[in-house]
Amino acid sequence: MTPMLHTVAAFDRIGEENAFAVLARATELAHQGRDIVNLGIGQPDFHTPEHVVEAAVKALRDGHHGYTPANGLLACREAVVRRMLATTGVEPSPERVMIMPGGKPTMFAAIVMFGEPGGEILYPDPGFPIYRSMIEFTGATPVPVPIREENGFAFSAEEALSLITPETRLVILNSPANPTGGVTPPGEIEALVRGLEAHPHVAVLSDEIYDTMTYDGERHLSLLTFPEIRDRLILLNGWSKTWAMTGWRLGWSVWPDGLYDKVRKLAVNCWSCVNAAAQHAGIAAIDGPQDAVEAMMRAFDARRRLVVEGLNDLPGVRCTTPKGAFYAFPNIEETGWKAKPLAARLLEEAGVALIGGPDFGVLGEGYVRLSYANSEENILRGIERIGAFLAR
Ligand code: PLP
Repeated sequence: MTPMLHTVAAFDRIGEENAFAVLARATELAHQGRDIVNLGIGQPDFHTPEHVVEAAVKALRDGHHGYTPANGLLACREAVVRRMLATTGVEPSPERVMIMPGGKPTMFAAIVMFGEPGGEILYPDPGFPIYRSMIEFTGATPVPVPIREENGFAFSAEEALSLITPETRLVILNSPANPTGGVTPPGEIEALVRGLEAHPHVAVLSDEIYDTMTYDGERHLSLLTFPEIRDRLILLNGWSKTWAMTGWRLGWSVWPDGLYDKVRKLAVNCWSCVNAAAQHAGIAAIDGPQDAVEAMMRAFDARRRLVVEGLNDLPGVRCTTPKGAFYAFPNIEETGWKAKPLAARLLEEAGVALIGGPDFGVLGEGYVRLSYANSEENILRGIERIGAFLAR
């Protein structure tokens, strides 16, 4: 760094998502001619449904080239309201819905709104790495809530509640979860909401970006269904995963009345508004036919079974059946390997990209994350290669 420049210390505390580094290395190896099976990536390997793409093209042709309101087009916010009503039975006012440039900006907004030195923020470990990174950026103290294999990788209300102090500002929940595929059962969510009654100073960020990606009849219970916490709940959701739209940068969140104007002003200051054509695509995604989404979920379900079966056949590997998202989080302790060296060697020597559990928090040691956003053929090839590597 240039010695004359003085950037603020917060920027030295920002972390990363190692999945992007693994993707870059996997791409580099592939460019060198290596045959890489990529089970590291956290995005659907499907295209955005055709009618959604067409809606964006039409919006551009129709001249939707300008700014929209900072909180999003009313028509897009109303589409989100219809979606929330359909998936949760709750109809938030469009005046509490923010259209955001992806899921992450909601995370950023919520964490910077509550994080500062002296404050504490609870987050899941193992969990999406950006939670901790952003908490550290703000100077608040990150307090990990352990996510345990023996609980089916569900969030534990009792454990989270026991970690709340007068300094706690925010609790972050994520179900269905990245990286574990865990779905927190309704009873646990109800227990958390009940317990929070004793802590009215604590806000909640519920990351429900995988809300409709569940299996085996498992249903995700949205925190939006609890009127008791509506005045302190920030609900994060978006189009990235459900409609295979990660590159469109389009998300939504539902905010309490008291916080809505703060996040709207943050939008005005940071990004003005979300790309207008993308918002039109978002409306089409919500209101149009869902057959492409259903077909994608059927494919994920079939692959999930393959992954779990294949992994459980490997020596020293034990894989809990994930109930949601598109990740498996097998326990590899009995292989004798530490997770990160194993992930690195698998990529370099066996040509399989996956992510070491510690990239999702200290409690991720002993695990690796496999994404099954890849073809059945590649999944089988990948697992075979892992097996051959472990047998060496
Ligand atoms: N939340 C979780 C749990 C995720 O896994 C991801 C993406 O991987 C996001 C949020 C971010 O979504 P987006 O790409 O829309 O910013």
